[in-house]
Amino acid sequence: MDERNALQGMSLEQIKSVIEIMQQSSDAYMYILDLNTDTYILSEKATKRFPFYTTMLENCAETLKKVVHPSDYEMLLADLEKCRSGEKDTHALEYRWMDRMNRVVWISCRGTVVTGAENHRLLIGTVSELGKKAKADNVTGLRREAGFRLDMGNLLQENPGSIHYMMRIGIDNFKEINEKEGIEAGDEVLRELAECILKTVEETAKVYRLVADEFMLVDEGQAGKSDPHMIYRKIQQAIAATAKRKEYSRFYTVSAGVLEGEFAGKTVEEIMRFTEFALNEAKRSGRNQMKPFVYADYEIYLKKLDIRKALRQDVNNDFSGFEVYYQPIVSASEDYKLIGAEALLRWKNEKFENVSPAVFIPILEESGLIIPVGRYVLWEAARACKKWQEYIPEFHINVNLSYVQLYKSDLMRDVERCVQEVGIDPESLVLELTESGYIETNERIKELFNDLKARNIDLALDDFGTGYSNMRYLKEIDFKTVKIDRSFVVQALHNEYDFNIISHIIDMVHSLGSVVCMEGIEEKEELSKMMAAKPDMIQGYYFGKPSPAERFEKDFLRNVDSTGVPQGVTDSL
Ligand code: C2E
Ligand code: MG
Ligand code: MG
Repeated sequence: MDERNALQGMSLEQIKSVIEIMQQSSDAYMYILDLNTDTYILSEKATKRFPFYTTMLENCAETLKKVVHPSDYEMLLADLEKCRSGEKDTHALEYRWMDRMNRVVWISCRGTVVTGAENHRLLIGTVSELGKKAKADNVTGLRREAGFRLDMGNLLQENPGSIHYMMRIGIDNFKEINEKEGIEAGDEVLRELAECILKTVEETAKVYRLVADEFMLVDEGQAGKSDPHMIYRKIQQAIAATAKRKEYSRFYTVSAGVLEGEFAGKTVEEIMRFTEFALNEAKRSGRNQMKPFVYADYEIYLKKLDIRKALRQDVNNDFSGFEVYYQPIVSASEDYKLIGAEALLRWKNEKFENVSPAVFIPILEESGLIIPVGRYVLWEAARACKKWQEYIPEFHINVNLSYVQLYKSDLMRDVERCVQEVGIDPESLVLELTESGYIETNERIKELFNDLKARNIDLALDDFGTGYSNMRYLKEIDFKTVKIDRSFVVQALHNEYDFNIISHIIDMVHSLGSVVCMEGIEEKEELSKMMAAKPDMIQGYYFGKPSPAERFEKDFLRNVDSTGVPQGVTDSL
């Protein structure tokens, strides 16, 4: 028998009792609409949330006018008319109702036409709220990004003040779960997480599944009642409880970005960007945490994007705007005789005022542009060195290397090509590396260091004394030079304890057969004090600031007195 005919001949009252029984086991609101008489019967639960003041309404079309969003009303009537006329036997629409507080609520209304007593056409079905438990995404049962955009577009226009916060939640290791355990495991995690979020949030909150592993939680109508930090912690706890229940068969964490405050005047697009930024900040800061959206940070981020764009353009425009400066390095044991220089990159762009290497080098690194730019510096520096060896044959040039160049480019090939093309002695080249960059020293990197060593290219450990100074590097990697950072030198200038540490480090470096370059000596007093620690080389403003090649050549090479000490250096002594 056709299921629909089971109700055949039942009176409205009889069907109503069936509905009230069924209503107890469903979150959706049940209804019957007698299309012939325009009588509408609704479960009691719906009347509590929406402004239908009774469960039996005589004039459905008129009553719905008060509940249905004005923009959706005509569409609804047209669909109901088709059901009444017999043109169709099912009704399925997603549209907006207004709740008792006049807030927009997206609903999904589904129904089937059956023939009741006296051959009346009865539409029987359910209305479910899409916000919390909508069936839109087959994996999680949530609405997707399109639904979020639609809902928020309306809410921002009609009642932005009702939004308390929006939280974008992302799974930290989703890609890994999918790759290692398969798509089904990934889907299961998504379902689990959707459940954890839904059971944590308030009734009025809406949850959406945006992109692959990201969810958006909109806390609306509860202004001030729920704290996003607490909700986030509860979600974390729910995830942990699920993991325990499933005997730790799978483990994942989530990060979140939260946007709070004034929503009036914001667009959906902005909300998407702001929450994405905050979520990325949480992930960048080590994952498994929530970060609030901070406009000032976002502006810095935008500026970085602008700088990155300009850097890319300049790289593609034959490195226009880039220039290599050179800073003298002098021998501490031979009357501060000039023995080499460090190549230091500079970048000028008319759109930005004086961007320091501390700002643009990390952007070059993040974008991978440091690979071509690093090559540019290497060639420029090698050419300058070759030229300056005409003045000082043993002149050497120090070039800074980024860990990105080590890990992501064929550095060995570049160095070999450069040495060959420019025609310099590999011994004149010193590659500077910072400690932080290769904390995860691996076999491939060690091999690269060995290859460089085999070709007589020296390595210098840069920025020693900042971050995690790790003596292990000195043992593991054969550094010819250790460069002590200015920040460490400054400490030693003011504190005897630090001075003694530097002295001991220098002794130790010597005992390992390496030499020390002390960086950042600015004043004569600093020099005399630090000389007691017995460094081998000195680099600092006192002997010369970084300057363009031509200026460097003029000041420090062409201007050399009879003792072999450059005028620029002796002048300042
Ligand atoms: P670094 O390699 O440790 O370079 C030394 C930095 O200390 C330079 O800053 C230099 O101008 C500064 N300095 C030298 N003497 C003094 C002094 O007496 N007082 C003070 N206050 N500072 C002094 P700069 O040129 O701003 O470069 C900063 C950092 O940017 C460099 O630190 C290096 O890590 C990075 N960098 C510069 N050029 C390149 C490059 O071509 N490639 C890569 N990967 N990094 C570079
Ligand atoms: Mg350096
Ligand atoms: Mg340094």
